[in-house]
Amino acid sequence: MPEAVIIGAGPAGSIAGLILARAGWNITIVEQHRFPRDKVCGECLSALGISVLERLGLCDHVGALEPAILHRVCLHPSNGNPFQIELPKPMWGISRSRLDRYLLDQAVLAGARLLQPWRYEGIGESDSQPLRVKLRNLEANEIRLIEMPWLIIADGKSTFSRRGRSSSADLGIKSHWSRIVGPCDAIELFGCHGAYGGLAPIENDRWNAAFSVPTAMARESGGDLQQVFERLLADNPAMQLRFAGARRIGDWLASPLPRFAVRRDWPARTILLGNAAAAIEPIGGEGMGLAMRSAEIAAQMMIYSKGVWNPRIAVELQRRFMSLWQVRQLACRAGGVVASSPTLARIASPWLRHNRPIAQAVLNWAGK
Ligand SMILES: Cc1cc2nc3c(=O)[nH]c(=O)nc-3n(C[C@H](O)[C@H](O)[C@H](O)COP(=O)(O)OP(=O)(O)OC[C@H]3O[C@@H](n4cnc5c(N)ncnc54)[C@H](O)[C@@H]3O)c2cc1C
Repeated sequence: MPEAVIIGAGPAGSIAGLILARAGWNITIVEQHRFPRDKVCGECLSALGISVLERLGLCDHVGALEPAILHRVCLHPSNGNPFQIELPKPMWGISRSRLDRYLLDQAVLAGARLLQPWRYEGIGESDSQPLRVKLRNLEANEIRLIEMPWLIIADGKSTFSRRGRSSSADLGIKSHWSRIVGPCDAIELFGCHGAYGGLAPIENDRWNAAFSVPTAMARESGGDLQQVFERLLADNPAMQLRFAGARRIGDWLASPLPRFAVRRDWPARTILLGNAAAAIEPIGGEGMGLAMRSAEIAAQMMIYSKGVWNPRIAVELQRRFMSLWQVRQLACRAGGVVASSPTLARIASPWLRHNRPIAQAVLNWAGK
């Protein structure tokens, strides 16, 4: 029976584990956190991710977890002048604690073995055959070395990048809210000076607010994320209106915001998925969809290989990932730059309003 170890049980790791386990592979998933766990994310799943769930026969089940169905995006630049556009296909608002736990449960039900809370701490000789993977049990603080012919890295960060290459100078922050009076079928984007954020409904009448902010702003606020939020609030009147009377029902979470193109320097016998392979500006809400689709493509290719490693698999995957990420990466970066510049947003907003077919075409082009 072919076997592989998967590091990380986010959407990328769980989807890869699920597909390979269903195909009869002997899969071990290693996850450092106990679930359910929260995560910095806008929590909007794009049509790309929903289509993966559909092909795996999971769509109705995730639908039963009661995600908010999101049909449109409203952009509120800091100077007013809002702009709204229909999404070509709906997105789902669902908390990461709920979605990630469900996907991991499905991988385990399909037969994957789970080591949790365990941490991956590196590999021995990278071209040795098989790989020697070093894992630590975080409860017993015990080290285990396992030998595996394949290693799948889905740890959500660029583990193998050279220092300083992958993280941007921005920080992602998020928290959950109740008592928001706003549209229940829309993602609202708020532009600020040098920052932007999104507000979207999720299950159980809760709302997710997630922002991309300069790390310097968080530093100036002494790391007080509520203070950072209040600075953003002061910058955007539409956002003030939306949060008037709202109640924060969770702590602020923060994490570095990675942004890098598809990596091509994969170690031997190793496959990178999701945010380990490439990281996109979060404004488009495509990160989870890309994680799931990259996992699906890689798992299918591994199954086709019948478990026999061939360096051409990595080359072909990198090529497929480039076509998956490249255009979205450009479109989302442009969106992020416009949303966080009041001047550009002031120019773009009326132009987009009067050229709807072009705005719609851009969304299609960006894979929405
Ligand atoms: C502010 C912000 C807003 C965002 N909004 C959206 C959005 O609305 N929609 C969207 O689709 N995407 C959004 N994203 C992006 C999305 O969160 C990521 O693209 C997505 O989580 C990537 O999935 P993944 O499976 O690759 O990695 P992750 O979800 O990061 O999962 C990686 C897992 O690996 C585990 N792990 C890490 N290191 C180890 C280790 N050494 N050993 C064991 N386990 C390990 C982690 O605990 C984690 O569970 C946003 C991101 C940010 C920062």
